[in-house]
This record gives sequence, structure tokens and C-alpha cells, in this order.
Amino acid sequence: MSDLRELYQEVILDHNRKPRNFRKLDGANRHAEGYNPLCGDKVVVYLKVDGDVVTDVSFEGSGCAISTASASLMTESLKGKRVAEAEAVFDGFHKLVTGAPGADAAPLGKLAAFAGVSEFPVRVKCATLAWHTLHAALAGRADSVSTE
Ligand code: ZN
Repeated sequence: MSDLRELYQEVILDHNRKPRNFRKLDGANRHAEGYNPLCGDKVVVYLKVDGDVVTDVSFEGSGCAISTASASLMTESLKGKRVAEAEAVFDGFHKLVTGAPGADAAPLGKLAAFAGVSEFPVRVKCATLAWHTLHAALAGRADSVSTE
């Protein structure tokens, strides 16, 4: 557990204890479900998309601290963004947590807390579950997403 504790930085702990936007979204016009069978993380992401702007975003679900905190921080960071901007944040976040070349934490704000995840490949799926689910919801895919 000590390895994991190192990557549970304060921001992650905080968002796991008090997830933001953790509710079903009234008036959502997009949603998708995600499941990470490796860890047992489940998430439903709700979106209100008006034109090309994500005007509101929320989530429900249950999972480990990494998956819950990632979903919580995702909802905070994407509200009010254009769809293309949201996809760009996802791309940057994905590069960060997978340790891809060219990863840059600077534009990601609080999401940079997940940089340490790249050292724990099994945790990458926890950190990206909500984002893959968001991507499916933005694409209008109603089917559920599995990280497998
Ligand atoms: Zn997990």
C-alpha cells in the first residue's frame, strides 16, 4: 500500500472524500456508463451539451480513490468548456497519466495531481475511466464503456 499512498496526493484524497458534482444531472442530454473490471470501478457521466459547449457535467458511481477523484476533478475542469476543448484536456490528461512523450502537466491545473499514476500502469485505467466514459457521452454513444 505504501506505493499507492505516495500517489494519493492531498488533492486526490480531498476529491475522493468529497466528490464534486456527484449526482444525477437533471436535464442531461448525454450520458454514458463506464466500467473498469480490473479494479471494479463503475461510473456514469452525465452531460448537458448546448451547441458545442458543455454547460454542465456530473457523475455517479463507485470505485477506488483514483477513479472517484479523477471523475470529480474532470467534472470541475470541464464545465463551461467547448467540446473540442474538453477533448483536448482529455488528450493532455491521457498523455500525463500514461507518461507519453510530450506530456505537459502545466495546462492541466489540478489534474496534474495524477502525474504519479504513470508509474503504476494498473492505475491508469482507474484514472482514465471517467474520461473514456465522457468521450463516449460526447460522441453520443449510449453503449457502456469497458476499459478491457
Ligand atoms: Zn480503480
